Amino acid sequence: MPYQTVNPFNNKLIKTYPDHSDQQVQQALDRAHRLYKSEWSQGPVQSRVQVLHKLSALIAARVDDLAKIASEEMGKLIEQSRGEVKLCAAIASYYAEHAETFLQPTRYPTDLGEAWVENSPIGVLVAVEPWNFPYYQLMRVLAPNLAAGNPILVKHASIVPHCAEVFEQLVHEAGAPEGAYTNLFISTDQVGTLIDDDRVQGVALTGSEKAGSIVAARAASKLKKSTLELGGNDIFAVLDDCDLEKAIKAAAQARLSNCGQVCTAAKRFIVHEKVADAFLKGFTAQMQAVKPGDPLDPQTTLGPLSSAQALKDLAKQVDEAVKAGATLHLGGKKVENTDGNFYQPTILTGITRDNPAYFQEFFGPVAQVYVVKDDEELVTLANDSHYGLGGAIFTQDTARGKALASRIETGMVYINSATDTAPELPFGGVKRSGYGRELSDLGIKEFVNQKLVVIAK
Ligand code: NAP
Repeated sequence: MPYQTVNPFNNKLIKTYPDHSDQQVQQALDRAHRLYKSEWSQGPVQSRVQVLHKLSALIAARVDDLAKIASEEMGKLIEQSRGEVKLCAAIASYYAEHAETFLQPTRYPTDLGEAWVENSPIGVLVAVEPWNFPYYQLMRVLAPNLAAGNPILVKHASIVPHCAEVFEQLVHEAGAPEGAYTNLFISTDQVGTLIDDDRVQGVALTGSEKAGSIVAARAASKLKKSTLELGGNDIFAVLDDCDLEKAIKAAAQARLSNCGQVCTAAKRFIVHEKVADAFLKGFTAQMQAVKPGDPLDPQTTLGPLSSAQALKDLAKQVDEAVKAGATLHLGGKKVENTDGNFYQPTILTGITRDNPAYFQEFFGPVAQVYVVKDDEELVTLANDSHYGLGGAIFTQDTARGKALASRIETGMVYINSATDTAPELPFGGVKRSGYGRELSDLGIKEFVNQKLVVIAK
């Protein structure tokens, strides 16, 4: 696919970016590998975290500018783009402050003598990233790995080349040496060739199951480590004792934020039968109340989907769900009289297990609502999914919420909040949502050599 900026609000082509040749890719890899062998990567962390301090400040100073680029390129509401940019500054700052502590050697008491595990960089990494959070996805990989000393070669999604380019410029402006971070406009074949190269030692991918399995298989064939942050079909559980007003508001936000294109968005709403009618009424009202429009206009509350293809795919998925017996409670159509990729907020009910929608992730403003009679049925339904990313439970009984959280097969569960993210909290899933963790102290340990050193007695 060509790397192009197409404004999803009107489908106008803004710019096409030239691809990197095989020769340019090899040169980038040479630079990255040279850096890995240098004092910069192998030496103390202090000089590397200085770059992160500076990067955080640069990003914080350019919030509006960076937000506008993202909104124009992938359709996120401007206020949400601002939030994403600020989060990136916070992640850079978090690792700037904490990386040294996280990378400290750990002592191991042993009868053999003095022993410790030190955390060394492992080499050049390849990162393959998606468009839905076009800066945050990059920062989740960059900040911990720059601190750890691993140079990074990035293949960003082909629909967000402008974000990819400005992010790279910022990293360089912050003082990162040549080879520390390189954006590459490359094909999937070129990604494969990079993964095969002995100088590449790890691969991080955020994206679909399909891309994840291809890239991870390629890495595995060369016995290289990978981390995968893939899709999700997160539950949003509404228990009979919850603060219903709060739950309804959070439910609509959790399904509509970023126009529903969030891996950890609430996608399956599992509601206790005692509050089902009231929930559906309130949720429908909130989902209906949106104002589609230009994502740059602060009055807009529903932006376009990221591409014409995304709109086509989502509309097809909903049509197929209805054909297979689901009830269309709300929406179910493209928004008319617009050149952009707008889809109506949609609610599907009556989805049976033999409906393909039951196991599918809807990457857009489409909610599936299920009604259950008790907590047992809730847990069974929640875990009857190929995915295991996040989940939310709304209840006023914390003990009940905690007990349920322990039984939900996901990498993250939030009680009385939609699934969220913060620099200090680990992010990642289980099952077909992938493996490995990003952010927090766990994120920085994914691609380090935890090397044991023993001084014998
Ligand atoms: P996608 O098609 O997998 O794209 C993600 C990235 O992978 C893009 O850079 C894409 O490049 C690249 N790619 C695709 N096929 C590849 C291959 N065979 N080899 C190498 N690279 C390849 O994902 P998407 O459909 O755009 O994004 C939505 C999916 O990502 C959803 O399932 C969502 O839940 C998931 N996601 C997960 C997280 C998380 O943290 N768990 C976060 C965001 C999104 P091109 O753009 O050039 O195709």
